[in-house]
Formats: sequence, C-alpha cells, structure tokens
Amino acid sequence: MLSFEIFGYGTRWLLSGLAFVFLVFSTFYVRKLKVGRGLLFLLAGLAIVFVTSLVQSYAGFFYSHAVSAKILTLAEMLLVLTSAVLFIMASSWLLMNAALNVNVLFALVSVGLALILYAIFVADNADLVANIRQILPIIGMTYVFLSFVSRSHIWKRPAELVASTAVGGLIVLMTMPILCKCAYPWYVPVDLIVLLGFSYYLFYLQDLQHIIAVQKEAQRRTNRNIENIIKSSPFPIIISRLSDDTLLMANNNAVKLFGLAAEQLFRYHFRDFFVDADNRKILTERLEKNKEVHDFEILVKTPVGNTPFWLLASVNVVDYNNDVVLYSAFQDITFRKQRESLLQSQADRDPLTAVYNRRYFETKIAEKINKAHQQKEPFAILMLDADHFKNVNDTYGHKVGDKVLMELAAICERSLRPEDIVARYGGEEFVVFLNKVTPDIAYMVANRLRESVASAVVYSDDGQPVRFTVSVGVAPSGIADDVGLMIKMADDAMYQAKESGRNCVVVYDEQMTVAMETSHQHHDKEKMMHPAFAQEDNKEISLLDGVETNHIVED
Ligand code: GH3
Ligand code: MG
Ligand code: MG
Repeated sequence: MLSFEIFGYGTRWLLSGLAFVFLVFSTFYVRKLKVGRGLLFLLAGLAIVFVTSLVQSYAGFFYSHAVSAKILTLAEMLLVLTSAVLFIMASSWLLMNAALNVNVLFALVSVGLALILYAIFVADNADLVANIRQILPIIGMTYVFLSFVSRSHIWKRPAELVASTAVGGLIVLMTMPILCKCAYPWYVPVDLIVLLGFSYYLFYLQDLQHIIAVQKEAQRRTNRNIENIIKSSPFPIIISRLSDDTLLMANNNAVKLFGLAAEQLFRYHFRDFFVDADNRKILTERLEKNKEVHDFEILVKTPVGNTPFWLLASVNVVDYNNDVVLYSAFQDITFRKQRESLLQSQADRDPLTAVYNRRYFETKIAEKINKAHQQKEPFAILMLDADHFKNVNDTYGHKVGDKVLMELAAICERSLRPEDIVARYGGEEFVVFLNKVTPDIAYMVANRLRESVASAVVYSDDGQPVRFTVSVGVAPSGIADDVGLMIKMADDAMYQAKESGRNCVVVYDEQMTVAMETSHQHHDKEKMMHPAFAQEDNKEISLLDGVETNHIVED
C-alpha cells in the first residue's frame, strides 16, 4: 500500500505548492463567472493562510535576523486578520454578489486590531494569542462555508456541494488543534485544496449550462416575438426550411393566399408553388449569393385554384428555431401584372386587328433575323396588301372595311405557326415573318394565305357577303440582312404582284424579276383548285379585284 510518509519534507511542500498553484489556476479560469470575484477573495485568503504557516515554520530564520518575537507575532497576527477579512469579503461576494459594506469592513478591522494589540502588548498572554491566531481564520472560513451552503438549490449544484465539502474539511482541520490538540496527515489539506480547485471547474460547467439555458430561453422568446409579428402582418408570410424546403410556418394571410391546410403545413414545399422551375432556380442562386432577395416576381400556382397568379416576394435567409430558413413575405401583384401586360400589349399591338404593330415588328424582327443568321436558318418576310380596298370602304363604309381588316389579320394568325409573326404594317398592309422557311416554302405559305383570304367572307350590316383578296410580296432571306431592306424588297415584290393583276404572290429576286407568280387571271389551273376563285367567277360578290360586281352593278 502506498504510504504518503514515503515523501520527504521537501516533496510535501512541493506537492502543497502544486495544489495551491492548481487552485490559483482554477480561480483565474473562473474569474469571469458570477462567483468568480468571491473565489478570488477566497484564494487570496487561503494564500495568506499559506504564507502565515510559512512564516511560522521559518520563525527561527526571522529570529536569527534579529526580528523580535513580539514583532514576528504581530506580523503573523496581522496576516491572520487579513486572511479572515478576505474570507468575509469572499462570502459577501458569494452570498450577495456585492462587496462588503465599508462600515462593516472598518468595524471588523478595528475590532480585530484592538484584540490583537491587546493580546500581544497589554495582556501579553501567549495562550490568548494562540487562540486568536487559530480562531480568526476559522471565523472567516465559516462565513465562506455558510455562503456556499446557503446558495439556492444547493442539492442540485455539484459545484457548491464540492466547494462547501472542501471548505468544511479545511475548517475541521483548523479546529482540530484547538479541540483535540491532535495532528492531521500533511496531505489532507493538500487534497482539500485540490478538491476546492476541482469544484471551480464544476462552477464553470454549471455556468455554461446556465448560459445555454438562458440563451435557449432568449431564443424561444425571440421566436415567439417573430411568430407574433408574422401572424399579425398584413402581408402573407411563410417560413420554409432551407435544407429540405418544407414549410415550417405560414401566417393566416399566407394560408388563405396559397390555399393551404394550416394544420398540415409540413406537407408542402416552397418549390411546389412555383409555376416556373427556372424562376425558382434564379431565386435560389441569388439567395446563395446575397442571403436576401427583394422585389422578386414569382408566378405562383396553388394546390387549390387553377389560375396562376403573380406575387412580389422578399426573401431572407435567417436562423429560426435552430434551423436555417427562408423568410418570405409576399405581395399579390396579379392586378399590376395584368395592367402591365395590357399596357405592353397596347404598346405592341394594333388596336383594330390585335396583331402586332409596325414598331414591334421592326424591333422584334431585327432580333429574329440576327438569331436566324447565327443559326444559319432561312426565313422570309411577306408583305400583304388588300386589293382595291378603297372600294370596300367606298361601297360598304368604313365599318365593313374594318371588319375586312380584322378578318384578314385573323386569317393570317390562324393560318401561320406560333413562331411566325404577323403585324399590321399600315392601313391595309400586313407583314409576316416566317421562321425557318426556304424560298419555296415561303412561296407556298404565301400562296396558301392568299387562297385562304380569297375564300373568306365577311358580311355587311345588311347581310351582304363581302369578299376580298390580297397581293403578296415575298422577300426570302439571303439577299439582304437588314430589316428595312427586306421589308422594302417584300414591298417591291408586292407591287410587282399588284402590277401582275393582284390576288397573286411574287417572290423577290435580285433583278426583281418575277420568279414565281400566280394570279386568277394567268393561272387557270390554280384557280380550279380554290373555291374562292370559283366564287369570284360567279361575280356574285366579287369585290376587291376591284371592279364592278353584280351587286354593285345592281346598285
Ligand atoms: P390597291 O389594290 O392598289 O392596294 O388599292 P387600294 O384601294 O387597296 O389602295 P389605296 O392605297 O388606294 O387605298 C387604301 C385604303 O385603305 C385607303 C384607306 O382609306 C383605307 N384604309 C386605311 N386604313 C384603314 C382602316 O383602318 N380602316 C378602313 N376601313 N380603311 C382603311
Ligand atoms: Mg396599300
Ligand atoms: Mg391596297
């Protein structure tokens, strides 16, 4: 069995010193805690006790240096008084987290000093001096002990329990010489000091737990505040988790707007509301870069209701309930978007026929032509002009003329593909951009269009059928790149078609030689194929080739 007696005198001092160093280190480690100030005073008191015992042990040394016994005793007693006062100051900090009242401090020091001076110099009683020397630190330490024990919930606080055990042990050791004049093994106070140092780490852990609990409570309070603010917001707001996109919270306005079942929020994902996945991708990319995005327009679909609607969103990446979340506030801008698109279409479209206007055509076509050039794809521009349109106005009035223009535009839109563009170029002139067509195909399409127009009929107010035809010029790509130039070419070709007798198609070529041409006058074979021509031949209603119709003649 290990006996501590194997240690020599020097080693014992060394171990005691190390224990004290450990206590010093622990005290500085916890000095920022609430109990830290009290523990610093306790350390200071214990240090003075340590120094006092050193002075006692080396009394012979002082005597040999001509220090009188009385002076040495006085010095010792002053050290003892100082340690007692430090202990009492420690307990004041431990108990009330406040410094000792100055008056109390002054009274303590005065009474202590008076007692010491009396015992040494007046009574000159060695026993009294010895008793004071032992009792003063005991009184101080008892205060410290009581202040540890009296801390609230002591049984749940290991730090206070261990600290009070260590201090209690030290008090017992201090009283032993008075009560039974018996000695204790040297390592017992060393162990108690180490135990005290250890208790400081427990204080540290306790404080850490306390800080975490306080922070959690603060977080809970903040979250509750946030939730209240969100709930009372006039704007729809949702909170969705960043990692898996599920909804964590939605205020009443958001529940109503998105048509959510409030109690089953977790079933929804933020992404479910986006009509356009690319739109969401852009939002995510911006959030990754900036952590917040404002005035972002989202076209939204909901679990209920089929009509998508527009929202203006402000989205922030924030911490909420230990999660990283998206805080999204919305504003319904459907009405604004509808107005915008109405204004846009008013700006881009012809009010009478609802096809695009000339301005839109010229800008849009410039883009289309560039793209077609890049992709080396052929295209064509057609120019259509109603034949003898003036006659329609003159015969049936402007209202019917307008009707004819509307029908003409409608036929173009109906007959062409979505990627083709129809625009009203001027009065009774229309332009068409045909995407990805060779000159042959462009001619074919133009001719089909001409036939469809020729077979169409609108009715005047008094129910008379009104028929009309168009002359079409075709400018195929490859001859010129410029929009204006191409339109001019189509126009030239169209005039050529007029020259050739109207109701026909002419494709532009470099010498403006007529490459292909059709007309009801020259191509009897084609005429046979199109009922429109047959009808014209009836002269029942023929109008826009200009000339007298049966009807007009009758009039
Ligand atoms: P051509 O076969 O040579 O093209 O003869 P046209 O009569 O069609 O040509 P002209 O340029 O002589 O007449 C065009 C007419 O179109 C004159 C104009 O009053 C009419 N017009 C232009 N814009 C509108 C419109 O918006 N509504 C109506 N009803 N008529 C229009
Ligand atoms: Mg014209
Ligand atoms: Mg005309």
